[in-house]
Amino acid sequence: MSAGSAWMLGACGMGVGPLAIYLKGEGWEVSGWDDSTGSPMEFQLADAEIPLLRDPWAAGRRPGLVGRSSAVKPGHPALMLAESKGARVLRRGELLAERVADRRFVAVCGSHGKTTTCGMIVAALAGAGADFGYVLGGLFRDPSMPPARASASSPWVVAEVDESDGTIGAFSPDVTVAVNLDWDHPDYYRDEAALEAVFRALFERTRTAVIIPAGNARLERLAAGLAVPVLRVGPEGDYRARPVAGDHASSVLELGGKFPALQATLPVAGTFNRANAAMALAVTHVVTGAVSSEPLARWRGIRRRQDVLFERPGLRVLADYAHHPTEIAALLRWLRETHPGRVIVVFQPHRHTRTRQYAAEFRQALTAADHALVMPVYSAGEAAVEGGGSESVVAASAHRLVDDRRALPELLDALVAGEEAVVAFVGAGDIERDAEAYAKRQRRHGSAAFTPDLSDLVAGRLSAGAVLRPNEPLARRTTLGVGGNARWYAEPATVDDVVALLRACAELDLRWFVIGRGSNLLVPDEGYDGLVLHLDSPRWGEVTPLGDGRLRVGGGTRLKELCGAAAREGLAGFEFLEGIPGTVGGSLRMNAGAMGGWIFDVVESVEWLSPQGRVRAARRDSFDALYRDCPQLHGAVVLSAVLRASGRDEPAAIRARMDEMARRRRESQPREASAGCVFRNPEQAKAGQLVDRAGLKGFACGDAEVSPVHANFIVNRGAASAAQFIEVMRHVRAEVKRSGGAELQPEIVALGREWRDLL
Ligand SMILES: Cc1cc2nc3c(=O)[nH]c(=O)nc-3n(C[C@H](O)[C@H](O)[C@H](O)COP(=O)(O)OP(=O)(O)OC[C@H]3O[C@@H](n4cnc5c(N)ncnc54)[C@H](O)[C@@H]3O)c2cc1C
Repeated sequence: MSAGSAWMLGACGMGVGPLAIYLKGEGWEVSGWDDSTGSPMEFQLADAEIPLLRDPWAAGRRPGLVGRSSAVKPGHPALMLAESKGARVLRRGELLAERVADRRFVAVCGSHGKTTTCGMIVAALAGAGADFGYVLGGLFRDPSMPPARASASSPWVVAEVDESDGTIGAFSPDVTVAVNLDWDHPDYYRDEAALEAVFRALFERTRTAVIIPAGNARLERLAAGLAVPVLRVGPEGDYRARPVAGDHASSVLELGGKFPALQATLPVAGTFNRANAAMALAVTHVVTGAVSSEPLARWRGIRRRQDVLFERPGLRVLADYAHHPTEIAALLRWLRETHPGRVIVVFQPHRHTRTRQYAAEFRQALTAADHALVMPVYSAGEAAVEGGGSESVVAASAHRLVDDRRALPELLDALVAGEEAVVAFVGAGDIERDAEAYAKRQRRHGSAAFTPDLSDLVAGRLSAGAVLRPNEPLARRTTLGVGGNARWYAEPATVDDVVALLRACAELDLRWFVIGRGSNLLVPDEGYDGLVLHLDSPRWGEVTPLGDGRLRVGGGTRLKELCGAAAREGLAGFEFLEGIPGTVGGSLRMNAGAMGGWIFDVVESVEWLSPQGRVRAARRDSFDALYRDCPQLHGAVVLSAVLRASGRDEPAAIRARMDEMARRRRESQPREASAGCVFRNPEQAKAGQLVDRAGLKGFACGDAEVSPVHANFIVNRGAASAAQFIEVMRHVRAEVKRSGGAELQPEIVALGREWRDLL
């Protein structure tokens, strides 16, 4: 199949994300979607310019192919949308199998260490200067190494194939590398024999060679009598690799047999790391015909595989993906081999079916730690099953169940106090969050002698035009005029200023929020305990005609200025924006609109700063333009946009149409201070009409009043507080619901708060 347009569901996961990046490298137009965001895969997708779109068709794309993670189950709204559009839907494994069908494909399979071995193969082949493509099932620790790459000039592709969902049956590799095999995935396979049968079948479909570890009786049995050569790797293998020296961080292997006779120094320690590395070197030799004495010089490791997050004398905090008893036992062996002191494990079991299957083995494996804390099971979408909870792992043991993850940091602090210790956060679910939070807590404790504040951290890094002030009153920075102070307030003058401020916030764990004109914003009375950024310097308000009906506008440009410039330039199509009192940035984030149009109708491209401080740019078809929302711009700072006129006209005619818009607004909207429409229009109804019909015009709490002119506006008659405004909103919602209307949802944004907590 030639390259087309693809939509990848579950794109923030470790299976689908890399495949999406591989497709993009092959020349496909790729977008993705994931119900849960915040994964580090998102940065890699963003680097590859793969947007996450809820509805790619509405954004102007036409994906003919949809790839899905097995976690995206039939009946998921995204799948139903894809099916209604007639797109071809494939699971990750099926899609990968299609892409590599005519390649020299190296399939890395097995129960444990696939990702590490695959990553080591990538590092060793890259170090040897080979040309090849790859698809990892994880992320490299080095963020500059993408998890996938396509090669147009080489037939070789290395990728992990996953046995967990049966898609392994779609592959016919050139070379199959089986790192090991243990009984797992009881949710999918009837019994061990069924799992073994798919490996045997994969070996039989392999075209050139099967590579297995020497001395693995199960894999020997499955590889018996194959038509292709079976190559064994290990101290006594065809590819001979014997450890001859090493310390806690490196090993020396003496290579022989089919390998060239040499000593290879590897930047890894521990039995299973050496075994994985030896397998990777055997593949490198099969592909390139050579192996050097430092074959893994480029190896920096895989995220969540023995990933050291914090280190100081006496304490190490690390995260590992181990989620099978064999992996946990191997990890704990490695910790004992390489770390002096006590071993403290925090384990989050992954999937109820696996926990039920292996409760006793998990319990046993964890006894190798000095202390084991067990969190509730990460279900990965599974329903709970009898015996599949964490209690079964801790039963009748010294392991401790920790029901509430918020209690973890203090429990751990008490355990690590005193003698040397290593804390390992272990599991394949979302335990990484806890690991990172604990590492951050340790970093903060480490610098307790001097706690810098925001101004210390950005001192000398902001441009001369930038403003940074503590304790800034925000009411006057909004059109509603209520609310408390921001702990910090900044008017950055350059992109570098914004980047410096965001980095400092990340360092301090300080929240931040960007405001425009504050015309759709409610500031709570208690203010905002973070940094408020305001793009107020002239640089952010520039409007530059680009010719060809296009304008580049700064993120802080007021729509009024934009409309004025458009009229002067004779550019039609922006008239509907006249009178909306926001900025370009705020209007894009809110997809502001009026009179049947919305701002994304005139967008050609947007440039923004990601929450991590990276400048990004994308065309219109990388954004979901939803009703009063653009999800891709949540937590972003819009720097500028290129807008396109619908046509040309006489300036006077355009001005006249804008004046007409302004007149209609004057007649239909209140003059008092407000934040615009408070509630979103429910389906098939107007929020204002529902409020009006409930007889609420004029309802007031203090100086906050439902406008008698337009019932979806709550105005500030002079001295309203945010609490009064919220009280009116609560009353309106309750009354509209009581009178048979819908449950109204807020359109306005509450600074730093969730509406569900306020209403
Ligand atoms: C009298 C009145 C009439 C209105 N009429 C309309 C109307 O007809 N149609 C309509 O859609 N809205 C209307 N509004 C609401 C409001 O003007 C729009 O939603 C506007 O787009 C908000 O822009 P802002 O710059 O004021 O954003 P703010 O209110 O300051 O912020 C709103 C959101 O945008 C984000 N944001 C602000 N700047 C940026 C940036 N540079 N980058 C990324 N995110 C940013 C904020 O973080 C926040 O989440 C009206 C408001 C009033 C007071």
